[in-house]
Amino acid sequence: MNKRFNLFLIFFVFFVSSCSQEKENTMCLVYESQEEEFSAVQTVGERNLNLDFSSFITTYQTRGEFTGSVGEPAEHEGLDLFNIDKDLSDIPVHTIADGVVVYARVGCPSSTQFSDNTILRECGAGWGNHLVVDHGNNIFSRYGHLRFDGVYKKVGQKVAKDEIIGLMGNSGRSEGRHLHLEIGFYNGTFNSCESSKSFDYVFDPATFGF
Ligand SMILES: [Zn+2]
Repeated sequence: MNKRFNLFLIFFVFFVSSCSQEKENTMCLVYESQEEEFSAVQTVGERNLNLDFSSFITTYQTRGEFTGSVGEPAEHEGLDLFNIDKDLSDIPVHTIADGVVVYARVGCPSSTQFSDNTILRECGAGWGNHLVVDHGNNIFSRYGHLRFDGVYKKVGQKVAKDEIIGLMGNSGRSEGRHLHLEIGFYNGTFNSCESSKSFDYVFDPATFGF
């Protein structure tokens, strides 16, 4: 091989690797998948959180409470807020506090809006389409079961308290249109190119006024 060809080869390899790098980063601004995965049940934690919490997350008529005992696996890991008003098509979901989006799952369909979702129930580890927001000091919030076209944020975007980040839906392991809100502690980082991950601990959102 002559020198010119070697040089060409080096440039070519560099070009191809920089292209695939770019593609990977773009893909991971959201993680789009119909994979049905499983993640560990989160343990109930107890802690005072020094966050400026919002008083409003979404509009709803009925709710399902967080259940579980401190130190034990949670029985219901978050707070469910159901909007059963069929006349309302779009139900915005707002953030509970300032933060940065660290995980965005999209691609989970739903068979219906107002009864049990029957397709790909474990898509997004049961959370369906969802967002995870980092509030600092290892405290995160998760917004589950968002609508197929209702994930408005991407990884890396800053969000302000009360900002609209998506639309309520019925994706994943869901029994009618609702928001599943989790507030949790996680001693790690979220990889936005991989499937969904559990927090180490979850807290009862009702203890923070929700
Ligand atoms: Zn729930």
